[in-house]
Amino acid sequence: MGFLIKIFALLVFVPFGFTDGQRDVCNLEIAAGDTLKFDKTQLQISSSCEKVTVTFTHTGKLPATVMGHNWVLSKTADVKLIASDGLIAGASSGYIKAGDERVIAATNIIGGGQTTTVSFGAGQLSSAESYTFFCSFAGHSFMMAGPFKIVN
Ligand code: ZN
Repeated sequence: MGFLIKIFALLVFVPFGFTDGQRDVCNLEIAAGDTLKFDKTQLQISSSCEKVTVTFTHTGKLPATVMGHNWVLSKTADVKLIASDGLIAGASSGYIKAGDERVIAATNIIGGGQTTTVSFGAGQLSSAESYTFFCSFAGHSFMMAGPFKIVN
């Protein structure tokens, strides 16, 4: 039995580990459902990434008007103001103020069953700076946020 579990672990976890650890270090995947929660508490990229692509999936069932989510990246210090300005900008602007230069990257708002991606240049990011990813949908950023780290 122990032997079978070991084989199972090798089959399942080794390929998964390689995918997550090395080749796809500049390609991130994250999801959220019908609750105010991302499925990952933090994200990290390598400082060697020139371009980062984030694929964001809404695994819930509720429409974007009710439980929409997006994925936004900014400096940690800018999160509150981006979110409050986004709330004023409203749903028609995707809860992001038009031309908000504090936003490093942002997807559009999606609803249940939808997937969206965003790519951005990572050369501008510094491992000495504190970054946070969050959802700017009305009222979500308090719960839906986590550190975005640049590691060497
Ligand atoms: Zn959200």
